[in-house]
This record gives sequence, structure tokens and C-alpha cells, in this order.
Amino acid sequence: MAKIRGDIKIDVEKCKGCELCIVACPLDAIALSDGINKQGYHYAVLVEDVCNGCKSCALVCPDAVITVYREDRESGKKEPVAELRKVTGDITIQVGVEEEGN
Ligand code: SF4
Ligand code: SF4
Repeated sequence: MAKIRGDIKIDVEKCKGCELCIVACPLDAIALSDGINKQGYHYAVLVEDVCNGCKSCALVCPDAVITVYREDRESGKKEPVAELRKVTGDITIQVGVEEEGN
């Protein structure tokens, strides 16, 4: 069993059902719900308990409504590892790219 367990929390009332997180998840852990939120969208939900906390879903969500957690199974410690909030304009996120000169 993997030492690290991932989990996500989706602010479903702010989700617009664009499905980008579903496509981005390498473990097929996310799907659109049958239910509809107050905005009239089918929202994304975690459907498989296989999340490893890779953060891909949170990084592609255009509405920044996904928070990713990682839990150490041995210590039981759970902490957020990806959370975008109060995004008011275009942002650029680079993952694993070192700046020139480093
Ligand atoms: S953190 Fe990674 S594995 Fe977990 S739901 Fe998001 S994309 Fe899938
Ligand atoms: S990427 Fe964000 S807005 Fe799009 S379906 Fe997933 S949670 Fe909803």
C-alpha cells in the first residue's frame, strides 16, 4: 500500500462542469455528478478512492475550486498541497521547470 494517500475537495457550487479535471486525472478518479449545482451545472466529484495527490486536477481547473490534500498513512497527518484562491486574472503555473541560471 502506498505510504501517501491523496484526497481532493471540490467546491461544487463553484464548479462549471468543464470536465478538464476529469481529463487531467491520471487515475480516472473524478467524474461528473448526476446532480446539478445552483449555477445549473453538473459538478465534478471524486468517484474512486485512488487519489495519490498528484495535483493535476487542481492545476487545470479554470475556476480554482479544487483543493488537494496528501495524507501520510503512517503519521495520519493530512495537509493541503495545492490550493488556488481568489484568482482574479490570467495566471501561469509551471510545474517542474527550473528557471534559467539555476
Ligand atoms: S490529485 Fe491527481 S490523482 Fe487525485 S483526483 Fe486530482 S488528478 Fe486525480
Ligand atoms: S476543472 Fe474545475 S470547473 Fe471544471 S469540472 Fe473540474 S472542478 Fe469543475
